[in-house]
Amino acid sequence: MSRDLVERWVRPEIRALAAYGVPDASGLIKLDAMENPYTWPRAMVEEWLEVLRAVPVNRYPDPAAKPLKRALVEAIGAPGGAEILLGNGSDELIQMIALALSRPGRTLLAPEPGFVMYRMIALFAGLEYVGVPLRGEDFALDMDAMRAAIERHRPAAIFLAYPNNPTGNLWDEAEIGELIALAPGLLVIDEAYAPFAQRSLLHLLGEFPNLLVMRTLSKLGLAGLRLGLLIGAPEWLGELDKVRLPYNINVLTQASAEFALAHRAVFDEQTRRVREAREALYGELRALPGIVAYPSDANFILFRVTPGEAGRVCAALREGGVLIKNLDPAGGALADCLRVTVGLPEENRVFLELLRGAL
Ligand SMILES: *Cc1c(COP(=O)(O)O)cnc(C)c1O
Repeated sequence: MSRDLVERWVRPEIRALAAYGVPDASGLIKLDAMENPYTWPRAMVEEWLEVLRAVPVNRYPDPAAKPLKRALVEAIGAPGGAEILLGNGSDELIQMIALALSRPGRTLLAPEPGFVMYRMIALFAGLEYVGVPLRGEDFALDMDAMRAAIERHRPAAIFLAYPNNPTGNLWDEAEIGELIALAPGLLVIDEAYAPFAQRSLLHLLGEFPNLLVMRTLSKLGLAGLRLGLLIGAPEWLGELDKVRLPYNINVLTQASAEFALAHRAVFDEQTRRVREAREALYGELRALPGIVAYPSDANFILFRVTPGEAGRVCAALREGGVLIKNLDPAGGALADCLRVTVGLPEENRVFLELLRGAL
């Protein structure tokens, strides 16, 4: 029987996992996955289709993706001397880092609650994972706990999401600087939400030999393309590049991302609107009785409802046609917490109306 063979050969830690669940969103207002709600102007779509017409899909992609990397360096303003490594989403870059550093007994460390892929990818790659709790009141770094965990585990890699997902906040820059200096191995700052934070730690790259900064085009509005980038010293990126599968960025993604970067103003305007809508939504959430909303520098807002009510509130929203993320099952600091992605003003209005009704 297959089952016996599976039990004998598939690693027990993999068998114990639940696969990364993506709920069916058909027919729903989708406010669960930090996507940009805006589409492109019609003329831009037509122009893009012209570009795609000329893409040679019978050929393998350019493995170095030089023109795309040039466009990215310019778009993000990477510091001189820094290079770029591309991933099929930043998830794939996390995987490359874990694969390159993994050895029995080595550790990957991140604050919690944090981005779930750090834990999952560590496990896939055979690294031990250590989650260090954030401060309960405001989700700031617990520096004593971080110092102690670094001392104790000597992690091969530390991941800091800036802003953090799912809490939405930026951590103190001086504290992050201290952690980079303390880290014996690599420290990766994951700036997936940079378009909404308007703050970045890219400028620290020249200061620390163990620092890499990660970005993605997903939250900017190109989640479907799957393109992430890692920025840092060529010494690190050259080694990580060896575990990259040769054609990881497909021809359609390369052509489309280059095209999109040439139309950056469109995305800048969209992210500006999302930031504006976030502030409005945060104000409305804060005013609701029985809700604690946490300030956010990303394109989502974490909020806490009355104890025991998260599942019911989430189901009522879904019943009304709005999908958000219930984080209560994760427990701990996320008990009774829900996370809503900032959508179009009209979508946010429907969400608020349903939420008011559900409370
Ligand atoms: C969404 C997210 C990513 C993953 O982005 P992809 O490039 O789409 O793989 C990485 N880090 C954080 C913190 C995220 O929230």
